[in-house]
Amino acid sequence: MAARTIEAGPVREWAVHLPSRAQLHPFRRRLLAWFRRRRRNLPWRSTRDPYRIWISEIMLQQTRVAAALPYYRRFLQRFPSVQALARAPLEAVLRAWSGLGYYNRARNLHRAAKELLRRHNGKFPRDPGSAQALPGVGRYTAAAVLSIAYGAPLAVLDGNVVRVLARLGAVRGELRAPARWRRLEQAAQELLAPDAPGVWNQAMMELGAMVCTPRTPRCGECPLADWCRARQLGQVERFPAKRRRPSQRKVTLAVAVVVDPHGRTLLLRPEHPQACRFFAGLWQFPAVEIHRDARAELRRHLRQILPETGAAVQLDPLPPVEHAVTRHAITLRPFLLRMAVLPRIRHSAAARLGGLERRAISNATRKIAAAARRILTAER
Ligand code: SF4
Repeated sequence: MAARTIEAGPVREWAVHLPSRAQLHPFRRRLLAWFRRRRRNLPWRSTRDPYRIWISEIMLQQTRVAAALPYYRRFLQRFPSVQALARAPLEAVLRAWSGLGYYNRARNLHRAAKELLRRHNGKFPRDPGSAQALPGVGRYTAAAVLSIAYGAPLAVLDGNVVRVLARLGAVRGELRAPARWRRLEQAAQELLAPDAPGVWNQAMMELGAMVCTPRTPRCGECPLADWCRARQLGQVERFPAKRRRPSQRKVTLAVAVVVDPHGRTLLLRPEHPQACRFFAGLWQFPAVEIHRDARAELRRHLRQILPETGAAVQLDPLPPVEHAVTRHAITLRPFLLRMAVLPRIRHSAAARLGGLERRAISNATRKIAAAARRILTAER
């Protein structure tokens, strides 16, 4: 198929090869027809309500569709409108997000909902500048919401779309380098179907998610194979170039699961001055980063926050738990500390170990609670 090259800059590898102008029409038609036949039936695809689309776009950042689906349904049941979200306490929003990770997404949603009420009469703004001024809404999210909900002619560029473009156009080099990314945004914009921008964006994302996958793309099923430069070169596996990911820092935390005879445990609020930063700013067990002797360092830490625990406090080890958050590979070393009466300290609460799900807790806390429950159940 005829191709053209845009923005072939001074560095040859920055070229983005696109279908020729004459080929744009069949190119778009082929992808849209494929999307009509093959698209997954997802709840955010059956609405043009900007609120629902916005929630789905935020949830799907860094989260797989299958993992996001139950959260999406529950979240919308709990907060069916911008008004409901804005008026809910942050704690309730974090609880609904609990387990999904990257909690700043939920905090930003909550702040943005308040701003929508305050400045936009509860409506998602139609112009990209105002949309991008909302907390947590960047260029991608604004383009996705505005194109799908309002039909705005704005192309999205996310991880799936950029992979498709890199292969279609045989784009070499680090795609996220700012200049190259801008050229890819321009390429995405040129390909956008002007009469159906929202559907087009979803079709490109779907192609990246289902066919042009990171490993072993299914080129035999690809509606765009005739225009794919990487395929023509026989070098699909070379595109896009592998990203250099920052290495993860290893961290070990000692964690105290303080329990009383009634199955209650002590949780710290994120405002507690000794709250540990690896628990996403949510309710957490007392914990401290350790370097040598987990038990001794945890004892020392507990003496600071729970003065009534003496030097000889008994800490029974629970099985270690592995956990990863963005740049950190965390080994959690939990210990059970049994006390007749839970200490009462500021910025803390007693909660049933079996009912922690009712609070905003991170997956790390969830895993530790499960380990503690297994041991305590086996002892009965
Ligand atoms: S032909 Fe293969 S590599 Fe090219 S866009 Fe389609 S799935 Fe991706």
